[in-house]
Amino acid sequence: MSMFEDIPVDVGIIYEGERIRRKNMHIELGGPKQEHKFELTRVRKPEEIEDGKISVIGPDIKDMSEGSSYPLGIVIEVSGEKLEPELEGVIERRIHEYSNFIEGFMHLNQRYDIWLRLDKKSFQKGLNSFEYIGKVLQRLFKSELPIIEKIQIIFITNPEKIKEHWKEALDIYEARDARARGLKDQEVDKFYGCTLCQSFAPTHVCVITPQRYSNCGSISWFDGRASARIDPKGPIFEIDKGELIDAEKGEFSGVNEVVKQKSLGEVTKVWLYTSFGYPHTSCGCFEGTAFYIPEVDGFGLVHRGFKEVTINGLPFSTIADSTAGGRQVDGFHGISIEYMRSPKFLKADGGWNRVVWMPASVKERVMEFIPKEIVDKIATESDVKTTDELKTFLKNSGHPIVETWKEEPVAVEEAVPTELEREIPSGMPVATIPTLPITTGGYKIILKDAKIYAKKVIIRSMKGEKIGEKRK
Ligand code: SF4
Repeated sequence: MSMFEDIPVDVGIIYEGERIRRKNMHIELGGPKQEHKFELTRVRKPEEIEDGKISVIGPDIKDMSEGSSYPLGIVIEVSGEKLEPELEGVIERRIHEYSNFIEGFMHLNQRYDIWLRLDKKSFQKGLNSFEYIGKVLQRLFKSELPIIEKIQIIFITNPEKIKEHWKEALDIYEARDARARGLKDQEVDKFYGCTLCQSFAPTHVCVITPQRYSNCGSISWFDGRASARIDPKGPIFEIDKGELIDAEKGEFSGVNEVVKQKSLGEVTKVWLYTSFGYPHTSCGCFEGTAFYIPEVDGFGLVHRGFKEVTINGLPFSTIADSTAGGRQVDGFHGISIEYMRSPKFLKADGGWNRVVWMPASVKERVMEFIPKEIVDKIATESDVKTTDELKTFLKNSGHPIVETWKEEPVAVEEAVPTELEREIPSGMPVATIPTLPITTGGYKIILKDAKIYAKKVIIRSMKGEKIGEKRK
């Protein structure tokens, strides 16, 4: 008898990576429309857990109206002789993987950013209660991680109750993150890798170091170590650092080898502390992105929760799409909020001295980690709205980036040619295009997720202007 015989829909790894579009969804839980949402795992004493218990506080799925969005809190409580609180973050991250095994049920992101959808077909098949979701999660957790002896799950949909637990959850996340601060990359022999997001981004491998937190912001170096110990064949594994090739950029021979192997040869090199050259790949559930702003030669930062457009006129979702999918894109870089607190944050690119714009809310969150002399020189959405205003702001505030502009006219006039050539490393796509229509011989051929490879890219000005020269 199948483990999921009593569940009205199918459950299996084949459903991982399934996307549910708005038009096909029955309901949405969490996501951008909901301010309060979270998922949290706690390790408890055995006597505090009623094994197999599933509670729903607030309306259940069957009580929700079709096409609507609801807040959600998921609390998973576990006990086991060998379980330690250190494993909470790792168990919590598996909620993403196991929820996605359920046919017609999609889970994105993590912690306070979760976004779930149930599709109409699965609802019609009878998936109309959190009881079923809870049963699937409990069975998968126990069979995949036998270290868990007892498990109970609470689904909270009552908005008032979510708010109460949400604040507590934020404090717990902060305490977990703080634990990894202070440890340096050069003080450890091993890093950890994670391929959990390969279902959505097949070439993505997270490299988790003490000073480069995972992209999703939910797995620290300590979490990686704990996970690799209890489940060495699982998606989180040990990486021998190997030789230090470049301390400034953060290149290690062991990292290169493992990433090459786990990305099936797609990614051959990773520079951990830079957004240029061979940046760390970006999956899809990163908490934020750093994006290069050519007009000022600086970086903007934006997080998933920012609802307005950024200084370059694009919303988070568009910036995220231009780097997601396990790619290495020059100047566009998926990152966690915790990485912004690291001394290695974009170190090779100038660190905080290169950051020129960020939303006020994320600035507030990482304020104490931004060097005091630069903090007021970084603009937010309340200071400027356009890149021209940004330039003026940076000049008036004395941002260090302005110093580098002074050299620009001479260097650019002399050095920038009307033609640029760039060799492309083998195996690296020049562009990935979600939809590429080609019309030929009376037919239209549409290529989906087309990757374009080339040995060399040549950019030639059509009007005799220098490359990089801005048209009026
Ligand atoms: S973002 Fe990285 S660490 Fe987090 S689940 Fe995905 S692959 Fe793992």
